[in-house]
Amino acid sequence: MDRLRPEVGDENADLWLKPIEAIALDGGVLTLKVPNKFFSEGIKERYQKRLVATFRDLSGVEIGLDFRVEKDLTRMLPSSDPVPEASPQSDFALSDLNPRYTFENFVIGESNRLARATAESIAKSPGTQYNPYVIYGGVGLGKTHLMHAIGNAMRRQHPKARVLYTTSEQFVNEYISAVQNNGLDAFRAKYRSLDCLLIDDIQFLIAKERSEQEFFHTFNSLFDSRKQIIVSSDRSPKEMTPLEQRLISRLEWGFIADIKPPDLETRIAILRKKGELEQFSVPDDVILFVASSVKTNVRSLEGSLIRLKAFQSMTGAPLSVDEARDILKDTIVYDDSNPVRAETILRIVAQKYSVDVKDLKGHQRTASITLPRQVAMYLSCVMTELSSTDIGRAFGGKDHSTVLHARKKIEKKVEEDPFFLELMNKLQSDIKAAER
Ligand code: ADP
Ligand code: MG
Repeated sequence: MDRLRPEVGDENADLWLKPIEAIALDGGVLTLKVPNKFFSEGIKERYQKRLVATFRDLSGVEIGLDFRVEKDLTRMLPSSDPVPEASPQSDFALSDLNPRYTFENFVIGESNRLARATAESIAKSPGTQYNPYVIYGGVGLGKTHLMHAIGNAMRRQHPKARVLYTTSEQFVNEYISAVQNNGLDAFRAKYRSLDCLLIDDIQFLIAKERSEQEFFHTFNSLFDSRKQIIVSSDRSPKEMTPLEQRLISRLEWGFIADIKPPDLETRIAILRKKGELEQFSVPDDVILFVASSVKTNVRSLEGSLIRLKAFQSMTGAPLSVDEARDILKDTIVYDDSNPVRAETILRIVAQKYSVDVKDLKGHQRTASITLPRQVAMYLSCVMTELSSTDIGRAFGGKDHSTVLHARKKIEKKVEEDPFFLELMNKLQSDIKAAER
């Protein structure tokens, strides 16, 4: 440090060199611990040669460098200066954040676990481990929600922090009008004094040469003072054009997480959560129907729920699956790859055996009902992606062990009786045809 400080200057020495910790010298290789990948890349690019030369001077031998990224969350870099007081005239107290987009309201699933966990730890200690943070994900999968959640949580935990959420479109517009109205200084002062900048849908910056340039100045200035930067993009690097890749590659030093489409279980949980928030109690079988019909986009999942709510509040009676199908028929697109729904199976099996769907979902134990009920359960097991618990629910709240028992029983019958096997095949093709 003493050798290099005069060469690189105090500011750079404090930013780049001070956080380095030498942890081992082994076989001519010195292992240096750094806070994150951004640092290791930055140090390599800027100071690797000088470090090696300095070590050579000091020790008389050639020493190689190896960087290890600090993983221990409790030992993160302290912020360069304490989070400042918000100045009285600042507009950061004006909330640009949607108070409903919180972590509490964000349902965790496999599809978003990493993105969310990272977001939460950023809200706790901004500007340290995961900086910059890039969130990728298709449209309607929760990127904006997660960004607001970070902002909301940060404001709660660090009330004085200057947190700003904006879209890259807003950023561009604001920049353009600053240029036109001689407001560039104010624009820069605003953006460069932030503790956390969240820029949504960064892809809009692409091909807006000067705005992009301005964004990178902002970025560098914030990053150098160890402020948190978070951006989202609706394309993964693989789907980007070279221009887009160039923009994103400058951010990839930090931490990247992607959000995938939610699986069935998560879709069900999201619908329950939204129902709760909307104070709208949706019958389980309707939730299951919606969750298995609307598959890729959480926003349409939500839209479906709102339509159902409007209908239910009109009639006042709990919705049935048939009503739900009817209400949503224009918005749900069934394609061939859609897995079969339990409701369709119930309907076709009921027709075949001349019983009521109601009875299949009921608890009556006469043979004329139990056989078709078990057949329908069996077909639900083999034709849908539902778990036995979910199937039990679709059958009027039966236990999953009942479903498994039915499956075993019918499997045995299929093996023993070729006529019965033929009947099952016929039913399966009828069900598939009904889904088309
Ligand atoms: P994106 O920005 O990725 O296009 P949004 O964040 O706008 O998507 O999400 C669309 C809608 O879906 C929002 O209303 C959001 O609350 C909801 N949503 C997405 N993912 C989740 C989740 N995991 N839990 C709860 N709601 C979610
Ligand atoms: Mg969004």
